[in-house]
Amino acid sequence: MRQHIDEPIAIRRLQQFAVDYEMQNNLQVLDKTVVTKEQKVACVGSGPASLACAAKLAQAGYQVEIFEASSRAGGMLSFGIPAERLAQEIVDFDVKTVADLGVKIHLNTKVGRDISLAELEQNYAAVFIGAGLWGGRKIDLGQGAMSGVVSAMDFLPVVRANGTYNVPEDVVVIGAGDTGMDCASTAKQYGAKNVTILCNEENIPAYHEELEAVQQLGVTVLTNFTQYKFIGADSVNGVIATHANNFTEIKLKADLVIWAIGQQIESPELYANLKVNGNKLVVSGYQTSNQKFFAAGDAANGGSTVVQAVHEGKEAAKAIIEFLVDGE
Ligand SMILES: Cc1cc2nc3c(=O)[nH]c(=O)nc-3n(C[C@H](O)[C@H](O)[C@H](O)COP(=O)(O)OP(=O)(O)OC[C@H]3O[C@@H](n4cnc5c(N)ncnc54)[C@H](O)[C@@H]3O)c2cc1C
Repeated sequence: MRQHIDEPIAIRRLQQFAVDYEMQNNLQVLDKTVVTKEQKVACVGSGPASLACAAKLAQAGYQVEIFEASSRAGGMLSFGIPAERLAQEIVDFDVKTVADLGVKIHLNTKVGRDISLAELEQNYAAVFIGAGLWGGRKIDLGQGAMSGVVSAMDFLPVVRANGTYNVPEDVVVIGAGDTGMDCASTAKQYGAKNVTILCNEENIPAYHEELEAVQQLGVTVLTNFTQYKFIGADSVNGVIATHANNFTEIKLKADLVIWAIGQQIESPELYANLKVNGNKLVVSGYQTSNQKFFAAGDAANGGSTVVQAVHEGKEAAKAIIEFLVDGE
């Protein structure tokens, strides 16, 4: 509506202003907490869904522990969204705000590897799953494994974690959503000369401003291309694709091909005892098929946004509190 008067409200900039003001003035935006409850709650993952859930539970007086597989907290905020779009210090500030509420964060602790869901079930009154979607999707083109062909999740988190990546001169990204744009801009930033994004859609799914940003970096985006084939034997050195008109074929040099076609549950076996529907844990009012387990964020909605994950994390905390109070 607003754009008919002057221009749309710049929500992202307003949020950025609020966070900057909070950081610069060292404001305490979340009330200090006192542990008043005996029950302990475990949160799997430290992305926005878990952080929001943990903060709400801690504020309600519960003892909360987060188990995070990575060496740094923040989930996709720390490992997916490029730092130029979301500065690490902002993420670290938010994580610290939650930790200051008394929430214990165990880094480098992967549930399913370092501690089992069964142990969490036994030792905690409730378990929140905010593990997101950390499995990268690749399409099997029937050409066998080739080095140089990776998924966005093999690429973006590795670049963020190591601060470096051996990016070759020629890169092809398959998929033109926001993740595809992030892969392309990151590849450019880390040394690629020629980056081409291929997608099978006629209309590019990424936000217009993300598309404009990569185009300004000199990335080429080609729509309506399908029937991908890789050139190479043990390692990839090119991509062939055919236009939807079934006539135009292109051949692109590429020593790195990045599939950016969405994420999936990383370790489905972790949820063997819970109901899963495709890419989502089945939840009803944030409670999974096991009443002690709750879930929200990407792991339960199939992949959405940070704001949605935060909202769901808070709502899940309310559902957990109701469950714990009922069980007292
Ligand atoms: C490249 C990219 C760019 C994006 N850009 C934007 C954007 O600009 N704006 C926006 O709103 N959204 C964006 N999104 C989407 C957004 O990041 C997600 O919707 C949001 O982060 C989901 O939050 P979450 O807490 O559910 O999961 P995540 O942020 O994915 O966090 C899950 C956490 O769980 C941990 N974990 C996973 N498995 C385990 C385990 N077994 N044990 C312990 N820990 C585990 C992971 O290490 C991770 O820290 C982007 C996503 C990607 C991939």
